[in-house]
Amino acid sequence: MREFLYSSPTARIVFGAGTLRNLRQEVEHLGRARALVLATPGQAALAEEAREILGPLAAGSFTGAAMHTPVDVTDSARRVVDEVGADCLVAVGGGSTTGLAKALAVRTGLPQIIVPTTYAGSEVTPVLGETENGVKTTRSAPEILPETVVYDVDLTLGLPAPQSVTSGINAMAHAVEALYAPQANPVTDELALRAISLLSGALPRIVADPADRAARADALQAAWLAGTCLGTVGMGLHHKLCHTLGGSFDLPHAQTHTVVLPHAMAYNAAGATEAMRRIAGALAGPRAGVLPDAPTAVHDLIAGLGGPLSLRELGLGEDDLPRAVELATAKPYPNPRPVTPEGITALLNDAWSGDRPQ
Ligand code: NAD
Repeated sequence: MREFLYSSPTARIVFGAGTLRNLRQEVEHLGRARALVLATPGQAALAEEAREILGPLAAGSFTGAAMHTPVDVTDSARRVVDEVGADCLVAVGGGSTTGLAKALAVRTGLPQIIVPTTYAGSEVTPVLGETENGVKTTRSAPEILPETVVYDVDLTLGLPAPQSVTSGINAMAHAVEALYAPQANPVTDELALRAISLLSGALPRIVADPADRAARADALQAAWLAGTCLGTVGMGLHHKLCHTLGGSFDLPHAQTHTVVLPHAMAYNAAGATEAMRRIAGALAGPRAGVLPDAPTAVHDLIAGLGGPLSLRELGLGEDDLPRAVELATAKPYPNPRPVTPEGITALLNDAWSGDRPQ
């Protein structure tokens, strides 16, 4: 018999195409009337569109969101919250913009409506990572979890194919690690397997045609399911490595997840045989005969989608590897296979070169 404890994060989810136009009623649903719209500089036009839809419920906008949620950016945005008298936050963008909304919510208590435009999944987690003086710290609290998520498939049509691939594999990584998490349970298992299956089907179709709305809908739904796994159970070696590489070596988030995932899976395979068998089944589909090896199947999927495959191509120096090993093994954390300096050295050497896992 399998024993488990299951506690689900709750958020209101609106999913569809063209749902950005529901923003005004979602602000009203929260009983609020002065929304501050958040975005990155690259998505300022989308912030403007959101403001127009909100009409009199738009109090202002802040379009300075940045990767890894720098505290000085949050401080600047907080001044805007006060200046315009905002009573809720509307974030339109990827994980970076969501991070800013969460950082403001935890400081002000304001409710959040998130409109995700990537597959990062942060919108359904109570987790916030912030950087200050070059150090990234993560905290988790119920008040960080956004109240409402508006998924609008149309907003993902313009996400370029390379970013769609890396963001999609970022989502797949949440699902993979959920399957061997100590808190794994029947609900997150099913969400994770469905997410892996949807992503492995959708990403090749998106690369072939980034405007394929059905493939985009599958990928966005997978992002929600995988993000829900991330928000419900603890993550292991893969997320720890990516956190270290992103926070301490300034490597780009989704690309790092894409390079590391097959290697972290290969490392953990011996300690998570049943999870790997189920992942292989989800990747291969229901009509598969002999199941593939899950880590090599993920590597081959990424290679077929155009990569990236190596930490070297992301700009990590070979001489940075010993420090990365030291940071990733400094504190113990739950993982299906013991984390040793020798093992992580071999893993990171393989990921740095981009070799196909054995
Ligand atoms: P991102 O939000 O940094 O976006 C990358 C770039 O893509 C940005 O310039 C953005 O403006 C642009 N972009 C986003 N959507 C677009 C679209 N549809 N079309 C065109 N351009 C678009 O990248 P990300 O990978 O979504 O998020 C990474 C951040 O999210 C990291 O800081 C990471 O730590 C965080 N994150 C947090 C959690 C969590 O649970 N706390 C989970 C996942 C990611």
